[in-house]
Amino acid sequence: MLTEHAVVIAGAGPTGLMLAGELALAGIDVIIVERRLSQELAGQRAGGLLPRTIEILDQRGIADRFVSQGMKHQVTMFTGTTFVSDLPTRHNYVLGLKQNHIERILAGWVGELGVPIHYGIEVTGFSQHDSGVDVALSNGQSLRAQYLVGCDGGRSFIRKAAGIAFPGLDPSTSNLIAEVEVTQQPTEWGIRRDALGIHALSKLEDGARVGVLVTERQVVHTAEPTLQDLREALIAAYGTDFGAHNPTWLSRFTDMTRQAAAYRDRRVLLAGDSAHVHPPDGGQGIQTGMQDSMNLGWKLAQVINRRAPDSLLDSYHSERHPVAARVMRNSIAQVMLRRPDERTQALRDTIAEVLGLPEPSRRFAAMMFGLDIHYDLGSGDNRHPLLGRRMPDLDLIAADGPVRVFKLLHAARPVLLNFGPGDIDITPWADRVQLVRAEYDGPWELPALGVVAAPSAVLIRPDGYVAWVGEGTQQNLAEALVTWFGAPGATTLN
Ligand SMILES: Cc1cc2nc3c(=O)[nH]c(=O)nc-3n(C[C@H](O)[C@H](O)[C@H](O)COP(=O)(O)OP(=O)(O)OC[C@H]3O[C@@H](n4cnc5c(N)ncnc54)[C@H](O)[C@@H]3O)c2cc1C
Repeated sequence: MLTEHAVVIAGAGPTGLMLAGELALAGIDVIIVERRLSQELAGQRAGGLLPRTIEILDQRGIADRFVSQGMKHQVTMFTGTTFVSDLPTRHNYVLGLKQNHIERILAGWVGELGVPIHYGIEVTGFSQHDSGVDVALSNGQSLRAQYLVGCDGGRSFIRKAAGIAFPGLDPSTSNLIAEVEVTQQPTEWGIRRDALGIHALSKLEDGARVGVLVTERQVVHTAEPTLQDLREALIAAYGTDFGAHNPTWLSRFTDMTRQAAAYRDRRVLLAGDSAHVHPPDGGQGIQTGMQDSMNLGWKLAQVINRRAPDSLLDSYHSERHPVAARVMRNSIAQVMLRRPDERTQALRDTIAEVLGLPEPSRRFAAMMFGLDIHYDLGSGDNRHPLLGRRMPDLDLIAADGPVRVFKLLHAARPVLLNFGPGDIDITPWADRVQLVRAEYDGPWELPALGVVAAPSAVLIRPDGYVAWVGEGTQQNLAEALVTWFGAPGATTLN
């Protein structure tokens, strides 16, 4: 007898946890299967959250849980050039917060929403059929799901087993990252550049251990990194291994950059690192994964609830694939720009000069912060710039008093904001779309674009992106409602 669930998620990293929360908010029966024995993360990975990611958490009313635990930094960086962002967002800062804390807080939220996380179990196989996916587990049991989502990291078993190609660039540089005890304290802390590349030593929070980042001579490796590899790399970079021993974390990362050719194969979907890997420069991995989940969650929920046809899931690939491709491009550029030679230094200085100018710096900050994402929801010169862009978190006056836009999104349901003067009738969609009559007299300012014309109404998807803009008429509103939230009253056969 198979245990059945609407969705099985492989992997309780940031992407899987975010997706589970989104599905649970929509009332979907979802479970996570996680290979690790607990949420504990060995070593440090991502170091923080960027503005758009904090905004999506704010859209669910949980941003404060993260912000209260982290450190706000007012600057951002592109390949060593720092610039201060003055973008129009409530979260105009980088939040320093280590990945283990991010995962702990996300897992707490997912637990409150009642999603079971089965630790210590791996997905070891699956087979797809017309109505679902049979999922084999490492404990010998099987699950049946309508959809299986691989949030199982860069080496994704789900991606490989689904036969989804992962084209891209092989590594050109390799780094070891470790936390170790030393017998000889370094005299030089911080970043060092030499002909090999970039290296760094830092004192860890506990005061006893040292954080090491060191570029290796050899780029291609077939085995997992060892303490001996670390010692050799330290000697090559610093002339000593500092007596490094007893590593509590030792890992290798490269600038390998690859992206899944398809984010979907019928009833199997990929999100996060399983769909895209790129260098950590710019700290964009965790952000892209959590935002993949924000894009996928409500769509998958609507398909499972038979409000929208299965084809809605194709928009997940068409919207998110270009976003990750852009992240890959800018992180490759940053790796190139951190090369230690004099010619690259000239290029770095030139880029720094460009980024010192207000307009390029604003555009790059918007890109690095994920605030300039633009989904192609229809072309044409007359399209309002809000279409396909993130809805700003405006302070509105609604019938019940003042309310922020993001608060209206807490339940992960779509919102139609009507600023008038006339009424809008969406009775056929009343069971799925909230209609809010609101007043707003302030500017409509978008990151990187500046002030845009005030619309008379906006239809906001649960992920906070604008699906339709009213400019005095209701032209195309019904089409947009059907496209994104299904035909009124109908349930679809998937
Ligand atoms: C050294 C380093 C530094 C980084 N720095 C940053 C940074 O500063 N900022 C940033 O945004 N990103 C950073 N990243 C990237 C970031 O850590 C990843 O992008 C992020 O963890 C991706 O989340 P994920 O949930 O998609 O995948 P993962 O975090 O890899 O989670 C995948 C999960 O799936 C589980 N799993 C794997 N296979 C199976 C299976 N078959 N069955 C069940 N479970 C399975 C794994 O145990 C794991 O828990 C860094 C990464 C590294 C390595």
